[in-house]
Amino acid sequence: MGNSELRYPFLNLKAADREMAAALKEAAARVIDSGRYIGGPEVEEFEAALAEKVQAKAAVGTGNGLDALRLGLRACIAEGRLKEGDEVMVPANTYIASVLAITDAGLTPLLVDPDEETMVMSGATVERNITPRTRAIMPVHLYGRTAWDARMREIAIERGLTVIEDAAQAIGAMAETEGLFGSRHAGALGHIGAFSFYPTKNVGAIGDGGAATTHDSQLAATIRALANYGSDRRYHNIMEGFNSRLDPIQAAMLKVKLAEEPRLAAERFAIATAYDNNISNPHVRRPLMTRRATDCVWHQYVVRCNRRDELREYLRQHGVGTDIHYAVPPHLQPCYAALSHGPLPLTERMADEVVSLPVTPGSTTVADAVEISRIINSFRP
Ligand SMILES: *Cc1c(COP(=O)(O)O)cnc(C)c1O
Repeated sequence: MGNSELRYPFLNLKAADREMAAALKEAAARVIDSGRYIGGPEVEEFEAALAEKVQAKAAVGTGNGLDALRLGLRACIAEGRLKEGDEVMVPANTYIASVLAITDAGLTPLLVDPDEETMVMSGATVERNITPRTRAIMPVHLYGRTAWDARMREIAIERGLTVIEDAAQAIGAMAETEGLFGSRHAGALGHIGAFSFYPTKNVGAIGDGGAATTHDSQLAATIRALANYGSDRRYHNIMEGFNSRLDPIQAAMLKVKLAEEPRLAAERFAIATAYDNNISNPHVRRPLMTRRATDCVWHQYVVRCNRRDELREYLRQHGVGTDIHYAVPPHLQPCYAALSHGPLPLTERMADEVVSLPVTPGSTTVADAVEISRIINSFRP
């Protein structure tokens, strides 16, 4: 049975975007009528709106989230903040893009197990794993939960660490502790934040898109040059760059979506709250619930079960679509067979236990979450 035929599909993007479809079509028509297909006001307006939203000095549109991360890291090298071979601490339970960005820039990933309860990195994680070679940390705000606390801030300042946030899943999230430059918004806590606008993300384009945010105008200028063939002005190349720009058509879509983000995050929070209040199966561990809609923007609602595959099959038979984020961690992927790392027992256990439930507004309702919880409660392994 295909996902879309399920009574409770994991994600139906068409349904999720239905409310905004008219505004999106109007914005697309505006771009077509403008004849401006690379750069221009749509991109500039979106970048300004994103910088304003996260309280960063600048936002630079990129072709996708992976490029926001890798150009951000390469800019840190170009600006002398990092050098080739430097160690970057990153949680091992992440999407492979976080690690790909590090190795692509010629840096060395230091893969670490996250915090058991929150499934993200914490100050304690940094303290436990830091080595004399660690020059940067990449907190990944996995599932929409900010990986930032007072201890992490303190160590970053004490040790002069460069902080690159993988905020791909966390647009709209805020930390309780302020970042290095005052903002508490995910993506503006450290030196560089990377966002992805892949269609399934909380703010999604109708194709690929990404952005890097920073408080440092020089880093912003370098990322912008790297994304544009390494040129700072026409036919003047200061670096060996790339071509990775945010398209105006995507920027126009994203302006519409960004304005709706707080409302959609509140809906995600309501769905997560419904799961939290209603799931009560001793074999199923709920994620740590948060107080406010901004503490975690619930990109995914991920439960843990040591009979995960049986649970998934049971849910599927009862019309519930699920997904796994992520079934195979980066260090167990064939491309990283030669990557050195310490033991990662927690990451490997989580990969076997996690299952993501439907949580996208427009595709899933609070009433659906209550019904799905009831089905979960009837699961007997
Ligand atoms: C989606 C995602 C990325 C990559 O973004 P793309 O736009 O797909 O390149 C990176 N890190 C995390 C944690 C993600 O979820």
